[in-house]
Amino acid sequence: MKMKTIIILGGGIGGIVTANKLSSSLSGDHKIILIEKNKEHTFTPSYLWLMNGSRKKKQISVPLKSLLKKNIEVVNATVNEIVPSEQKVKAGEKEFYYDFLVIALGTDLVPEKIQGWDDSIHTFYTFEGAAKLYDTLKNFSGGKVAIVISSMPYKCPGAPHEGAMLIEDFFTAKGLREKVVIDIFTPEPQPLPVAGPELGNAVKNILDNKGISFHPSMHLDSVDTKSKQIFFNGKESFEYDLLIVIPPHQAPAAIRKTDLVNANGWIDVNPSSLQTKYENVFGIGDITSIPLPGRWIPDKPMMLPKAGVFSHLQADVAAKNIVRKIKGEKADEKFCADGYCMLEAGADLAGFAYGDFFGEPHPHVHLKKIGRKWHIGKVLFEKWWLSPVGFKKVFYKNLLRTGGKLIGIPVKL
Ligand SMILES: Cc1cc2nc3c(=O)[nH]c(=O)nc-3n(C[C@H](O)[C@H](O)[C@H](O)COP(=O)(O)OP(=O)(O)OC[C@H]3O[C@@H](n4cnc5c(N)ncnc54)[C@H](O)[C@@H]3O)c2cc1C
Repeated sequence: MKMKTIIILGGGIGGIVTANKLSSSLSGDHKIILIEKNKEHTFTPSYLWLMNGSRKKKQISVPLKSLLKKNIEVVNATVNEIVPSEQKVKAGEKEFYYDFLVIALGTDLVPEKIQGWDDSIHTFYTFEGAAKLYDTLKNFSGGKVAIVISSMPYKCPGAPHEGAMLIEDFFTAKGLREKVVIDIFTPEPQPLPVAGPELGNAVKNILDNKGISFHPSMHLDSVDTKSKQIFFNGKESFEYDLLIVIPPHQAPAAIRKTDLVNANGWIDVNPSSLQTKYENVFGIGDITSIPLPGRWIPDKPMMLPKAGVFSHLQADVAAKNIVRKIKGEKADEKFCADGYCMLEAGADLAGFAYGDFFGEPHPHVHLKKIGRKWHIGKVLFEKWWLSPVGFKKVFYKNLLRTGGKLIGIPVKL
């Protein structure tokens, strides 16, 4: 078998899983190169715990190399050009040639696209932003907290609601709840429309019970940070004391320059094989857009949510299909969108949302009753994810799989 070079762009959730899966399945004769701009890997779901003071920065940040198997070559550089016709990638000052390419570059956050944006506006969607918001929450003595989803799509549709609930819990624990009003604004018609009506209604009820107001169909127009007002298209303006936004998302520049992107600015892939229009180029995770068969808003299809759980599953599929192609077999591994999420609700409790996102006439996603065990499940997953690659098997066998069985989730990794 001829030696092949497989390049993975992006060392986030999808890139790490792809590289490790390839490394386990291919002999050392093949070359696996992972290109990532950051040396440290931070675990995004834990940004919410950084925001509420449950974690310190160093607890959710590890050297990227500690998560990758030894025979993976890590290049610490920014990808600035992809030339599929020449099977070439430019990163930093260097050029790399590939036989197979996996693009897992995630999304860029572009808060500066918000009219009126300045540094007084917070976000918990970045590592630094979550840490900064904790400092502000600690010193906040009361007033109106507005959480604004600025546009769609955005990653992890549960996260803004989890953030609101953790903030509510933070002020309850501080004895300040009576002095704080929390509002969520979103252009969407319901919470988590990508997950179907059942989950949306369940989350809306939880928010209601916590006294968090949910405002659907609110399209952000601009912000005036001097008068502390948020303006929505065709709706009344809203005054705030603390503004937290989910910033606009876009594909990284290197991708936007290629012919891989669709009209919406994301990579089109075959929803089953995750192959792009180029036979040897795969797209996985947040950088892709995969239509949901049963969801429309109002005249275009909704896309599979950008979530780590899907990046993880897609990484497995892309890696298996590449291995099969290298071995001359049929590349018939298929992605199925059975996703799950532990939805943090505050007070060390969480709900467990799970189901088929490709379900018709709409996704069948259910929420299990909120309890301590789902929160523990999320903490265990975080510990497993951040543990060095050599310890993962032991950790999985002894804690994650056993813990999963005890609480009734079949954890398959
Ligand atoms: C607050 C928050 C909470 C979340 N909670 C959950 C959760 O509970 N469950 C869940 O499933 N998902 C959750 N998510 C979403 C999840 O983090 C993403 O969906 C997931 O990380 C996407 O994986 P990815 O591999 O596609 O992209 P990423 O993990 O974002 O990885 C992309 C990588 O590419 C690198 N990169 C980008 N551009 C370049 C370039 N030009 N050159 C080199 N490297 C580059 C980046 O540095 C990054 O490391 C959450 C997200 C946030 C913000």
